[in-house]
Amino acid sequence: MKALVKGRAGEAQRSEKAALERCRRRQIGGCRRGRASQNNRPMKNQTNLRPQTRAIHAGEPPRHGVDVPVNPGIVRSSTFTFASSREIQRWAEGKSKAYIYSRYGNPTLTVVEKKIAALEGAEAAIVTSAGMAAISHSLLSLLSSGDELISTAEVYGGTYRLMRDVLPRLGIVVRHVDSSLAGLEDAVSAKTRCLYVESPTNPTLHLVDLRKAAGFAKKHKLVSIADNTFATPMLQNPVAFGFDMVVHSVTKGLAGHSDLVGGVAAGQAELVARVREMVIELGGCMDPEVAFLLTRGIKTLGVRIERQSENAMRVAKFLEKHRKVERVHYPGLRSHPDHQLAKNQMRGFGSMLAFDLKGGLPAARKFCDRVKLFLLAVSLGGVESLVVLPIFSSHYRMSEQELRRAGVKPGTVRVSIGLEDAADLIEDLRQALG
Ligand code: PLP
Repeated sequence: MKALVKGRAGEAQRSEKAALERCRRRQIGGCRRGRASQNNRPMKNQTNLRPQTRAIHAGEPPRHGVDVPVNPGIVRSSTFTFASSREIQRWAEGKSKAYIYSRYGNPTLTVVEKKIAALEGAEAAIVTSAGMAAISHSLLSLLSSGDELISTAEVYGGTYRLMRDVLPRLGIVVRHVDSSLAGLEDAVSAKTRCLYVESPTNPTLHLVDLRKAAGFAKKHKLVSIADNTFATPMLQNPVAFGFDMVVHSVTKGLAGHSDLVGGVAAGQAELVARVREMVIELGGCMDPEVAFLLTRGIKTLGVRIERQSENAMRVAKFLEKHRKVERVHYPGLRSHPDHQLAKNQMRGFGSMLAFDLKGGLPAARKFCDRVKLFLLAVSLGGVESLVVLPIFSSHYRMSEQELRRAGVKPGTVRVSIGLEDAADLIEDLRQALG
């Protein structure tokens, strides 16, 4: 009798395990373990949590109980099993959300997608192989030949080149407006489908009035997309101002350690599902190893941004007083034309700044060749401080007119501020400026 009870208990345990396993495969990021569920303390509604808490806990599976790993494992598998041909048929008919193949989705990607969606206050998110994949796949999910797109002219150079060199080849018309949004009403037509902005802009840190831009898009029934890379979700949430979608190069502040390339598109679930279709068809998916590193990086985003913003403010104030510097572009400075707007729509001023040297390109080259602590490198948002000349990096292959419109001068230096001690950074700047 005892043996029979034991046998039945074992059977029940086995079938519970199988059920949990099936459930794990179906649940997006909801991998539950039997023992964890015995002591399952539901977490506070994630949208009520504050940003740095969300950065750490949102998207993670329940982690209470015995033997539960604190960090999600990396599901390094390209493919996932099905219990029966019936199950795979259900998947093909769209009746099951089971993972099938990592280009379509993967549990390690799901964790970080949920985390970023929670940070942006968005319904859903999809991570991609690069920021440019998030941008191109988002635009291609919305635009067809004959459609028109309005974009601010001041955007990351790669985004600008995509709009200048690639989209028109597909029959998509791109109309540019200033970051001030002047001329927006003249740019819209019956064929316009989408409004794209970047704020703050790369590299000159101009701001777009996000509430105004989203209101315009709603009025004309356009899908609005904001590149939030420079601000990060810690300092600004375009969705809260009415934007439909947010894109990021997660290569930058979100990951924060200059050790991966990736992107994300977040927003309304229906729009994100369309981007996922593009990722499936075009192939710009993220690798699980990268997703794990991104999850790890995001957990310290709040503290990094706080320190980087403090450092950036000190550096900006130092540069503003330097006799060889013509102008400093940092939204935290009172002299910045968008300072008030930054105070209204951002929760801090961020880690990025730029400055124009009085001596133009020769002076900017000399400065870049003399830095010792700052590294001369592209990209941004990492723990180490970087300097770069936009005309030779983000804004290469641009005409003089295009550079002028983007606010980039030959003597413009872009600076990404890291986590070093501000006094050391200032000392290096002082010696490099000479
Ligand atoms: N958006 C902004 C504001 C950027 O600065 C960059 C890259 O520098 C991108 C998008 C493109 O991202 P990725 O290099 O990850 O493709």
